[in-house]
Amino acid sequence: TAKAEGRNRYHFYANDMSERAHLRMDIEQGLRRALATDSLLVHYQPRVDLADRRIVGVEALVRWLHPQRGIISPLSFISIAEECGIIEHLGRWVLQRACSEMLAVVRSRPPGETFHLAVNVSARQFLGVDFVAVVRSVLDETGFPASALELEITESTLQATERSLSILQALEALGVAISIDDFGTGYSSLSVLRDLPIKRIKIDRSFIIDLPTSENQRAVVEAIVALSKAMQMSITVEGIEHPAQAEILENLGCEEGQGYLFARPMPFAELLTLLASGLPARPSSGTTP
Ligand code: C2E
Ligand code: MG
Ligand code: MG
Ligand code: MG
Repeated sequence: TAKAEGRNRYHFYANDMSERAHLRMDIEQGLRRALATDSLLVHYQPRVDLADRRIVGVEALVRWLHPQRGIISPLSFISIAEECGIIEHLGRWVLQRACSEMLAVVRSRPPGETFHLAVNVSARQFLGVDFVAVVRSVLDETGFPASALELEITESTLQATERSLSILQALEALGVAISIDDFGTGYSSLSVLRDLPIKRIKIDRSFIIDLPTSENQRAVVEAIVALSKAMQMSITVEGIEHPAQAEILENLGCEEGQGYLFARPMPFAELLTLLASGLPARPSSGTTP
């Protein structure tokens, strides 16, 4: 009957709620354990010069190697880590691991060639206690050059403007660069951006998904490129999956791209192999330099 069905649904719903709460606690405890037992991983996704397909840097992306569930995406635990405060510990761990793994890579690049390690920083971490001191001590401990480090923050992190500004300035003084991640998905005012020491804008994948066909998206990217040039910022476009997107973006004046078209995020050992061989030349260009 309908009544029974209703009751069942309610019951199921109640179960669902407690299951979700349970899962949350599970994740929180699991993360604490993972941090204590070193079962987090950092994968690296290459950043590519759109003109010649050289790998010009990598973004560090955390993964959790769960004993039962296998590799878990940050999308399912970063927000929980933020809410329960583990993010500061987790964020420091990622920074430390990425800097120590990438040190030899950065050192072995030919002189004059810039290579950047980008690390994501959440708002709570950025605005938390002594973030600048954490960055400074990781650089000291690992010997990683500050000039090769970029920290990715989102627009929402800049909401607390006065405090953000002093943190940004302290990081700039350290020699670390700042990028705005997922640009366009937040609400940062352009006048605020102009006054901040920001080196790079990362255009979110959602802005380029329909790029080959959408005049509208092309116009938006064009506007962002013009804006970034006016403010002396560089551009990295995220989530490039198709050659047509890469070509249009290059023609619109975007310098760098990141996406499955070039390479997926990968374990450190695979990155080393890829860096040794380089990416294949672009399919459309018949000649190699
Ligand atoms: P994000 O910083 O914007 O990173 C880009 C995300 O897009 C990554 O997802 C990457 O794997 C994915 N991606 C790259 N190329 C493509 C593509 O061509 N197509 C599609 N569909 N996706 C692509 P991932 O690794 O799952 O990370 C998700 C988000 O989790 C990151 O977004 C970032 O906000 C957060 N995150 C990852 N690692 C960390 C970390 O160490 N600390 C903090 N605070 N957040 C992190
Ligand atoms: Mg990022
Ligand atoms: Mg992003
Ligand atoms: Mg994104």
